Amino acid sequence: MIKVLVAGFKGRMGTTTTNMILENPLFELVGVYSTSATEKNINEIAEYKSENVPVFNELEKINIKADVWIDFTIPGAVFENVKFAISKHMSPVVGTTGLTEDNLTELKKLSKLEKLGGLIAPNFGISAVLLMQFAQQAAKYLPDIEIIEMHHDKKLDAPSGTALNTAKLIAKVRQPKVQGNPNERETLPGARGAEFEGMRIHSVRLPGYVAHEQVLFGGNGEALTIRQDSFDRISFMSGVAVAVEKIGTREELLVGLENLL
Ligand code: NAP
Repeated sequence: MIKVLVAGFKGRMGTTTTNMILENPLFELVGVYSTSATEKNINEIAEYKSENVPVFNELEKINIKADVWIDFTIPGAVFENVKFAISKHMSPVVGTTGLTEDNLTELKKLSKLEKLGGLIAPNFGISAVLLMQFAQQAAKYLPDIEIIEMHHDKKLDAPSGTALNTAKLIAKVRQPKVQGNPNERETLPGARGAEFEGMRIHSVRLPGYVAHEQVLFGGNGEALTIRQDSFDRISFMSGVAVAVEKIGTREELLVGLENLL
C-alpha cells in the first residue's frame, strides 16, 4: 500500500482528497496536516470515528514517514511544505496553485538531488488537461487568444494556475504577437485583464462556481471557443489517484498531469 499524508486536509480539496485516500484500497492514510487543526487524531472528527490517523498542525512536528505528500493548502504555504516533504523523501503531489517560476526551479533542483519523483499539477481534471492540449493545437492556426477563467469567490490567487499554464503552453507554439489595437487605452484600469505574452487573461470570482475555463480564439470572420467545467471537486480525484500511484516510479519533479498520463 502507498502511504499518504494529506496537507490542508480540512480544506475543500483536502477533505475530498482525504476521503478518496481512505476509500482507495491501494492507499493508506498515515497522517494529515493543517495549521488550524486542534485534534491529535482524525478519529476525534465525527466523520472519521473509525479511523486512526495522527493529525499534525506544525510542519516541524511531522514525525511520520509517508511515500507521498499531497498538498492542497494555500499559495503562501505550499513552497515551504513541498521543501519539507522533499527533505523527508516524501514524493510531493501538489494541487495548490501560486508557486512562482523561481519556486519551481528550486523545487526541481531539490528533487533531483534527492532523486525523488513529484508532480505539481495546476489542474488534476482530465477535461482541463484536454482543454490545454486542444488550445495548444488551435493556437498554431488562430494566434489571437483571450482566456477567461471562472472560480468560486474564496479562491486566493489570480489568475488561476490552469489559466497561466494554458497561456504558457500556448506561448510555446504561438508566434509572439501583439493583440488588439496598438492604440487601445483602458479608461477603467484592468478592463483588458492581465497580459501574458500578448494574450489577455480575465479572472471571474463568483459564488456557485467551482473551476471553469474558456479559451477564445478569433480569426478572419470566424471564432473558436474551447470550454471546460469542473462542477464538483470529485472531478479532480481520478487525476490525484493516478499521480499517487505512479509518482514512485519517477525520479524528478514534473509539472502538469499530462506528463504523467
Ligand atoms: P481551502 O478550502 O481554503 O483549503 C486550504 C486549506 O489549507 C485550509 O484548510 C487551510 O486551513 C489549510 N492551510 C493553510 N495553511 C496551511 C499550511 N501552512 N499547512 C497546511 N495546511 C494549511 O482551499 P481549496 O479550495 O481546498 O484549494 C486549495 C488549493 O488547491 C488552492 O491553491 C486551489 O487553487 C488549489 N486547487 C487545485 C486544483 C487542482 O486540480 N490542482 C483544484 C482545485 C483547487 P487553515 O487556513 O484553517 O489553517
